[in-house]
Amino acid sequence: MPKCIFCKTENGTYKTISHILPESLGGKQWACLPQDLECDDCNDYFGSKVERLALNSFPFLEFRSLLGIPTKKNKSPKQETSLGTIKGTLCPGIIGLDPKFKEIEKVVSNGQITQLRILAEPTESLAICRLLLKMGLEVVANDSFDDAMKTKFDAAREFARKPLRGSKWWFLLCCNHKLLFTRFINGITLKEWTEGIKLEVINIEGGEMFHIKLLDMSLITPLEKRILPGDLKSLSEPDYRLFWSEC
Ligand SMILES: [Zn+2]
Repeated sequence: MPKCIFCKTENGTYKTISHILPESLGGKQWACLPQDLECDDCNDYFGSKVERLALNSFPFLEFRSLLGIPTKKNKSPKQETSLGTIKGTLCPGIIGLDPKFKEIEKVVSNGQITQLRILAEPTESLAICRLLLKMGLEVVANDSFDDAMKTKFDAAREFARKPLRGSKWWFLLCCNHKLLFTRFINGITLKEWTEGIKLEVINIEGGEMFHIKLLDMSLITPLEKRILPGDLKSLSEPDYRLFWSEC
């Protein structure tokens, strides 16, 4: 009898396929979770209440639109900016701009505006944190169902699936901005993007942490509630940024 790693139900249905890395971030066949680990209810819930929000927030949205990673339905990702809507062209490194006003179109085409600023701020830090926990537990379950069901992960399971009001979790965002921008300027193919992605659960001083590496950016969150950021606070911005997400 299959048991869902998130809600622990034994009565669920298991018809949908869950991707450890969302398809809109380039998660293809290789990122599929074995079908009987996550029930359809949890899969639906994560898709509509967690992933949708997280993927439309920095940093995921920027990767999606700047690299033109197609959505699940093979559409171009879009992003609102002060100049208008930018659209991924499905051709990495080339973006389209749908200007807000006629005047903008004019000044962009005659070269008066040559830069576009993007706010590098996670607007959906709660959804991002919950998506990271979901991915982390899936990475554990992909290796061993029994490990994923351990009580030490119950708090992470709860925060990902049904966070209690007032509960908090943290994640760390580390980025080598210079390297990342150089890469964007030089152009990256979707193949390079996918090959550069790393998802892993690492053990630091006896505690399990989830790490996802996206080119020159890393996102890290603990999979056990007792692990606190501690010394990480001394890591300086802008390369290291610590976020507490509160429900
Ligand atoms: Zn479930």
